[in-house]
Amino acid sequence: MNTQKLKFNKLYINGEWISAFSRETFDVINPGTGNVITGVPNAGEIEAEMAIDAASKAFPEWSEKTAQERFDLLYKWFQLIIENKEEIATILTEEQGKPYSEAIGEVHYAASFVSWYAEEGKRIYGETIPASSREKRILVIKQPIGVVAAITPWNFPAAMFTKKIATALAAGCTTVIKPAEVTPLTALKLVKLAEEAGIPAGVINAITGNPKIIGQTWLKDKRVSKITFTGSTAVGKELMRGAADTVKKVSLELGGHAPVIVCADANLDKAVEGVILSKFRNGGQTCVCANRIYVENSIMPIFIDKLRNEVEKLKVGIGNQSDAKIGPLINQAAYTKVQRHVEDAVAKGAKVVCGGKRVEEYQGGYFYEPTILSNINNEMIIMSEETFGPVAPIVGFDDIDDAIKQANDTDYGLAAYAFTENLKSTIKLYEKLEYGIVGINDGLVSLAQAPFGGIKQSGIGREGGHQGLEEYLETKYVSIGI
Ligand code: NAP
Repeated sequence: MNTQKLKFNKLYINGEWISAFSRETFDVINPGTGNVITGVPNAGEIEAEMAIDAASKAFPEWSEKTAQERFDLLYKWFQLIIENKEEIATILTEEQGKPYSEAIGEVHYAASFVSWYAEEGKRIYGETIPASSREKRILVIKQPIGVVAAITPWNFPAAMFTKKIATALAAGCTTVIKPAEVTPLTALKLVKLAEEAGIPAGVINAITGNPKIIGQTWLKDKRVSKITFTGSTAVGKELMRGAADTVKKVSLELGGHAPVIVCADANLDKAVEGVILSKFRNGGQTCVCANRIYVENSIMPIFIDKLRNEVEKLKVGIGNQSDAKIGPLINQAAYTKVQRHVEDAVAKGAKVVCGGKRVEEYQGGYFYEPTILSNINNEMIIMSEETFGPVAPIVGFDDIDDAIKQANDTDYGLAAYAFTENLKSTIKLYEKLEYGIVGINDGLVSLAQAPFGGIKQSGIGREGGHQGLEEYLETKYVSIGI
C-alpha cells in the first residue's frame, strides 16, 4: 500500500481530519510481515470529549431527518463502499492479515449492514393500544436513543464497524467510535467514504488512541446514552460496570467457545465443510469459531481422515498471496496463546493429527499451522478458554444428550453448530443448545438480516435484523386524554 495516499490516518471529529493534541502517534503493523504500515494519532481524554461534543451537537438535526433522507445518505455510503471494495480489502488484509479473498468477502458483508439498515430505518413503527376509557388514546412511539459510543475489535475491522454505525445512524443516533488499535485504518477509510457520501459533520466521529482513557471518558459522560462494544468478555464486563454510574444502555458482543456436534447420521462432507468454515475462517480468529468438536465415536476415524485431508489443503500465507487460505495471527500475544493451548493439550495426552507448530517460512509474521488435535479431555485449557487460532480439538461421544450437556458446560453462549440428517436430533439440538446462535448443517451463520448475539457471558443484545435496530431506540408511551 502506498502510505502517501492515506489521507485518512487521522482523527475524524466534527467533520475535520485532525491529529492528536499531543501530536503522538502509534504504529499500525502488518501482522504478516511485521512492517509498519503507517502511524495513527494517539488520542486521549480531550479528543474523546471533543467527539462527544460534536455528536451531541449533530444529534438534533440528524434525528429529525426523515427516514428517506437518512436512507439516501446511507445508501450512497453503501454504494461508495462497494465501488471502493478493492481498496478497502487491500487495507484490511494489510493491517489485519486475513487473505484478500476473505477481506473482499468481509467488505461485502460490512456493506450489507449499511444497505440493510438504510432500508430497515424506514420501518421504525410505533403502536396504538386500546385504552380502558373512551376519553383516552394510547400511543407508543420509537425514538433514537441519542449519542452512541462504539468500541470495536480487530478481527472484523470493517464489519464490526458498519454493524454498529449503520444501525445507529439508521435509527437516528449520532456516534463516537474507537476502532481497535491494531486495525484502525479500515474503519477510518469507511469513515472517509461516509464523509464523501455526505453524512453530515458530527454524525460519525472516529478516534484512535488509548482504549482505557477513551472508554472511561465516554462512560462517565451523561451525554452518551449508550455504549456498544464488541470484544473480549473481560473488557465487556469492565465497560458494563462503568456504564452503571450513568445508567447507560449497553450492548455487548463478547467472547465465545463454540461447540460443534457431529452426529453419526450427518452428511460427513457437509460436516467437514462446516467445520472448516467455522474453525479456520480468519485463521480461527472469529468469536463464533468452533473451539470444541464433538464427534460421535462410531464415525471418529473416518471424520478425522476427511477433516485432515481438507485441513492439509489450507495454504498458509501472507494475505495478499492469491492462494493463501490462512493468514497470520494478529500479534505475538495471540501466537503465544495458541502455542500455549497446543502445548498444554499435548502435555495432557492430546495427539497431534496435523499441524501443531509455527510456520517457519514467514519469520516476520505470526503464522501457525492449521492443526487438528485428538485424544482430548476436559482438563485441557483449550476446552474452556477461547483459543482464537487455527486449532481444532476433537472429542468423542456416544450419546447425543451427553454431547449436548458437555457442549453447554461453559460460561460462554455465543454460537454452536451441529451436523445431523435426523429431524428429531435437529429439533433437540437447536432447542437444548444454550447459545444465542445455532447453526444446523451450517458453519457460516452471520448475516445482516439475522439477530446475532450471545447469551450467558457472551453478551447482551443483538446486532443484525430488526432486533438490532431496537437496540438503538427508546420506546415512549404517550397517553392522551381527550
Ligand atoms: P479486546 O481486547 O476486548 O478489544 C476490543 C476493543 O476494546 C478494542 O478496540 C480495544 O482497544 C478496546 N479496549 C481494550 N481495553 C479496553 C478498556 N479497558 N476500555 C475500553 N476499551 C478497551 O478484544 P480483541 O482482542 O480486540 O477482540 C477479540 C475478542 O472479541 C474475542 O474474545 C472475540 O470472541 C470477541 N469478539 C466477539 C464478537 C461478537 O460478536 N460476540 C465479534 C468479534 C470479536 P485496543 O485495540 O486499542 O486495545
